[in-house]
Amino acid sequence: MRTSFLPFSTPSVSDEEIFAVADVLRSGWITTGPNCAKFEAAFASYCGAEGAVAVASATGGMHCVLQALEVGAGDEVITPSMTWVSTVNLICLLGATPVFADIDRDTLMVSRATVEPLITEKTKVIIPVHYAGAPVDMDPIRELATEHGIALIEDAAHAAGTEYKGERIGKKGTCIFSFHPIKNMTTAEGGMVCSDNSELLDKVKSLKFHGLGVDAFDRQIKGRTPQAQVIQPGYKYNLTDISAVLGLGQLERLDAFNTRRTELVTRYHEKLADLPEIQPLKFPAYPHTHAWHLFIVRLDIYKAGLERDAFMAALKEQNIGTGLHFRAVHLQKYYTETFGCHPGMLPETEWNSDRICSLPLCPSMQDSDVDDVVAAIKTVLKKG
Ligand SMILES: *Cc1c(COP(=O)(O)O)cnc(C)c1O
Repeated sequence: MRTSFLPFSTPSVSDEEIFAVADVLRSGWITTGPNCAKFEAAFASYCGAEGAVAVASATGGMHCVLQALEVGAGDEVITPSMTWVSTVNLICLLGATPVFADIDRDTLMVSRATVEPLITEKTKVIIPVHYAGAPVDMDPIRELATEHGIALIEDAAHAAGTEYKGERIGKKGTCIFSFHPIKNMTTAEGGMVCSDNSELLDKVKSLKFHGLGVDAFDRQIKGRTPQAQVIQPGYKYNLTDISAVLGLGQLERLDAFNTRRTELVTRYHEKLADLPEIQPLKFPAYPHTHAWHLFIVRLDIYKAGLERDAFMAALKEQNIGTGLHFRAVHLQKYYTETFGCHPGMLPETEWNSDRICSLPLCPSMQDSDVDDVVAAIKTVLKKG
């Protein structure tokens, strides 16, 4: 058994990044400023996006985009239940109704087939989630949204570096990335909204900073009008320059991070191949590049003779950390009580919600760490 605990994920921060953060702290300008502007330009260029706005979190970015699209009472928003709760919480906080789409059993992603039957006169937005580093099959969903005149927001929190049919996620449409510490690149907390809709992006830029026409850096440093005007009441979701400079360093290393993630996952696939109790997700059938944000497996609870939560607890006893991405949102207390959601509504989501487990994966891991995880799994399954 491992003597030290292997966390599910640890951020990789280089000495250069630490020095760059210290330089910003000494510079006299630590909040949104020149480093944010550089980070936005660099991230947009990396994705091939027309424009990008840095925000304090992906959740804050989602809030601004939903607000910019004027989502509110009487509107329905289609989203998977297999997602992080933040999106669904925001839909509710804005007074709209979440409508949950089921997912493909083996990729955990929505498709035109699962979304289309849910469309009504009230549907305002569809929010597909690129899962674990793989892309959603966007072309059929884009066609569907265009046919019905419905807006699309891509949750790209797992998809920094992911490609769909030869193009990076972020190039087309409106995509929201997260730089939380477990994501493929980090700014401690932070996010990015990329969009090919410049009008929408201008609204997000204003909404993330009180709804003003210009931000504090523009006002004070560039010497624009001292009293900016509120265009529409907004929020306080700007990214600091401390975070942005860290993001610039991380972005330079993103491809190397993702290559290392891919190597580790290849090793997992090889080593787990002879364990029928453990079923990794499957690769999407369309052309893509996987960013391997998460390595998710499903526990065959009958073959294994134990439930997923017990499996995770047993791995922890073997000094192996795991994650759960995610517990189905629709079966959480608020959603069952408020919207009458119930078991049986979303069979594929619920099947996975009871079985998924994310194994340790981050670029700083050694090959031997993967071997330790597999050995611990064999011990837990009494195959050691
Ligand atoms: C992490 C995550 C978010 C939220 O990102 P924050 O930057 O923490 O707000 C949203 N959606 C998904 C699918 C995520 O994994």
